[in-house]
Amino acid sequence: MPQANAKLNAFPVFMRVEGEAVAIVGGGEAALAKARLVGQSSAVLRIIAQTAEAELLSFIAATGAVHVAAAYEAAHLEGAAMVFAASGDEALDRRVAEDARRLSIPVNAVDRPELCDFFTPALVNRAPVAIAIGTEGAGPVLAQMLRGRIDRMLSPSLGALATLAASFRGAAERLPKGTGRRRFWRDFFAGAPASGHIALVGAGPGAEDLLTLRAHRLLMEADVIVHDALVPEAIVAMGRRDAERLPVGKRKGCHSKSQEEINVLLVELGREGKRVVRLKSGDPLVFGRAGEEMAALRDAGIAYEVVPGVTAAFAAAADFELPLTLRGVSSSLVFTTGHDLKGNSLPDWAKLAISGATVAVYMGRSVAAEVAGRLIEAGLSPDTAVAVVENASLGNRRRFHGTLADLPSLEARADLSGPVMTIIGDAVAGANFERSEPLAAHRHEDTASATAEGVEQ
Ligand code: SAH
Repeated sequence: MPQANAKLNAFPVFMRVEGEAVAIVGGGEAALAKARLVGQSSAVLRIIAQTAEAELLSFIAATGAVHVAAAYEAAHLEGAAMVFAASGDEALDRRVAEDARRLSIPVNAVDRPELCDFFTPALVNRAPVAIAIGTEGAGPVLAQMLRGRIDRMLSPSLGALATLAASFRGAAERLPKGTGRRRFWRDFFAGAPASGHIALVGAGPGAEDLLTLRAHRLLMEADVIVHDALVPEAIVAMGRRDAERLPVGKRKGCHSKSQEEINVLLVELGREGKRVVRLKSGDPLVFGRAGEEMAALRDAGIAYEVVPGVTAAFAAAADFELPLTLRGVSSSLVFTTGHDLKGNSLPDWAKLAISGATVAVYMGRSVAAEVAGRLIEAGLSPDTAVAVVENASLGNRRRFHGTLADLPSLEARADLSGPVMTIIGDAVAGANFERSEPLAAHRHEDTASATAEGVEQ
């Protein structure tokens, strides 16, 4: 039970404002902030500002708010349901507050709690659902932090669910009042999560801040996180603290589950009604074997969704400031892997490389010589530019540049233990090589001396 001294001095209510006028006095940043906040409702904004800053003017133009471009008078407040004194001028704000009170209109004066009849909350808006956070002005930063946390926790479609619920109200009213009706609504709102759901989520190339907001929200909602070895611990740790975490490989030499075992695991978790995040490095649909997982889920009738991520090729290109397409040089982009180069037939993408495409090679380190050999054999110049990034997007990334003729040296490098992305093509010449090491320095060295220091000399 709250203690006697833990009483609220401001009591939260939701005020009806649809079609009502809300007056904001002021032409600067504070007025704009209030306009943005109240602009999330269907109130009609009336902004009283003889002169308004450009940003406020464009807000007014974009939203169709009423602009009273005149020196403030009490008459401007008439008929308003709420008043904000946001002029930044203490004497004027005081006057506005007094006028509002005389007209019996509740007033809020920015940064002057003693003049306020009400406080504005930090707002999580999933209309018609609203979560308003108030601290009675004691901690606006705290309120914003809480707002951010709650916002990430809640599905963007919560509002749609509530609207759907409203359309069921008539039907529900035919149920007996009390327990029966309550149970109906509980089942209605609990229905979706209870049936199990798998999200195939791209974790991005490794940097935590390259995770999408959607991926983060799903991680916060997950019961179980099933992740690959390539996904850094720091990203898995961004998930709900009490979520179960299941690493499933697949790093060379580590115990890991086979793809078939992973498919079975996902289906089982779905059948148990779990909300699962299947976290994959980069984008889940690029060399992520998502196709097999989706097929298994479809066959089992388990709901799933796919959340895209920043694929390694994009992160590597960004690290190199490398234009993947370059006007007049390269107008197509190939995502390929060196891993399935079998037999003598040329890979189907060799022709594209020769016709000028930029080629991003995933899992290409241990087959670098094969890739280079095949491309040169197909007619691509040995002088074609090549960029290689280990641990793209991460603090310990390393960048190398050279030509197709240098590429085979990659295989011998024992100093590269992280994932490696290779980008080949004329567009690579447009990259920034300032912070990269030459690939060629390693061409004739043996594996044992292949260290970072060795390259610098
Ligand atoms: N789905 C992932 C690719 C998985 S295949 C994506 O979209 O990025 C694994 C390969 O991706 C690695 O062998 C490597 O070639 C590449 N890769 C993944 N993360 C990388 C990183 N941070 N830096 C460089 N290459 C990376």
